[in-house]
Amino acid sequence: MSLKFYNTASRSKEVFQLLETNDTVKMYCCGPTVYHYAHIGNLRTYIFEDVLRRTLEYHGFSVKHVVNITDVGHLTSDADDGDDKMEKGAARTGKTVWEVAEYYTQAFMKDWKSLNIVEPVIWCKATDHIPEQIQLIQNLEAKGFTYKTSDGIYFDSAKFNRYPEFANLDVENLRQGSRIDMGEKRSATDFALWKFSPPNQKRAMEWESPWGLGFPGWHIECSAMAMHHLGETLDIHCGGSDHVRVHHTNEIAQSECATGKLFSRFWLHGEFLRMGGGKMSKSTGEFLTISLLQKKGFDPLDYRLFALTSHYRNYLNFTWEALENARESLKSLRRKTDPLIGKGGEIKSALALKIQKSFKEAIGDDLNTPMALGVLNEMLKEDLEDFEKASLVLDFDRVLGLNLGQSRLEPLTEVDPSIVKKIEDLLAQRNEARKAKNWSESDKIRDELLKMKVTIQDGPNGTSWSF
Ligand code: AMP
Ligand code: ZN
Repeated sequence: MSLKFYNTASRSKEVFQLLETNDTVKMYCCGPTVYHYAHIGNLRTYIFEDVLRRTLEYHGFSVKHVVNITDVGHLTSDADDGDDKMEKGAARTGKTVWEVAEYYTQAFMKDWKSLNIVEPVIWCKATDHIPEQIQLIQNLEAKGFTYKTSDGIYFDSAKFNRYPEFANLDVENLRQGSRIDMGEKRSATDFALWKFSPPNQKRAMEWESPWGLGFPGWHIECSAMAMHHLGETLDIHCGGSDHVRVHHTNEIAQSECATGKLFSRFWLHGEFLRMGGGKMSKSTGEFLTISLLQKKGFDPLDYRLFALTSHYRNYLNFTWEALENARESLKSLRRKTDPLIGKGGEIKSALALKIQKSFKEAIGDDLNTPMALGVLNEMLKEDLEDFEKASLVLDFDRVLGLNLGQSRLEPLTEVDPSIVKKIEDLLAQRNEARKAKNWSESDKIRDELLKMKVTIQDGPNGTSWSF
């Protein structure tokens, strides 16, 4: 069954395939700048990326998912001026920039956990990859794509013909419109690769480089880390829609000029969460966090469900009323799924298999989460045996991530290790029986597991089980 994604680069839905079969999907997602808490708008983007990763896995791919942590103080505006974000965070909190970075990184990871977002395979910090960034700038310098001003080394965007293509930019207008605040830049679309530390001023974060003491520009960090961890051509690169015009356009320019290769085959962008008609933004200081929602009595998964009710490429308007509706929907869903916990069995009836296929198609069609949720809700109304319903709930929840396999009403109990051993022994025997095509024996073992209230799920990577 094919998997299709809307690719910003081609402005169309394309079938997703790997270049080499059996390879791993190389996926890079732009992460947070850790000078403040993540707001629920940022988290909408990470939920979309989580659904993307889970969908790839659901469709049988394995994914090397890399997310960066921007802990270098790049400047508050995309145009390379304004204050340093990390130093601003330090001044606001009375901490050092390193403490600020650590504190907000931990807070960010806590938010991810609470939203049931699967951890990336690699978290990478910009400050751990300064040499790679310097090397990439040197490479661009050697190829003649850079120039020096009194405050830094800049990328010369006029040397990359395809610069306007990705975001459909009207570069001429941009150039004319911003003559005044261009400083020493040759073109409005040029951007800093390396900034010199201002003379007579000790910055909290600065590094030695072939150009003297300074710090990297923002865009270079993502290219350097993505290529370091995933190679010169990625399969998927994602972020929020605001990144298309500047950050990702610049990442493409510098990466493709350095390597001469396509930087990423697919680009996926999540649309913004809005509040009261405007965008939610960290820089204005007016934003909602997960812990605030919790203080108001919401479960973070209420917010996850709220995010899943709209397609990731549409704007989503946040209101408290809409969040309350999501909470009610999740409660009503759990009222139906909780009694099924532990009752799962093999999905085998034609109707159940058909419903499973519809779910896979919905989520595989550019992550249509509203439709996938519809399939789940309709399935629960169907005339299916409980064991099939139970297994379908668990199956769909591999993508939805609403933790429907765990009752919210009862705390999880510790499982006795001797019981775990018994289950695993039975699963090993069942695998042997299946290999030998001894179906009556494998059915007998499955029934024995069912009696122990164990649900089993056969997948491409073996058999998983849960209570
Ligand atoms: P930042 O920490 O500001 O670099 O943003 C982290 C991620 O959140 C990026 O992928 C942004 O594109 C995305 N983002 C920022 N604001 C919003 C918003 N209001 N709604 C959805 N995503 C956002
Ligand atoms: Zn990035």
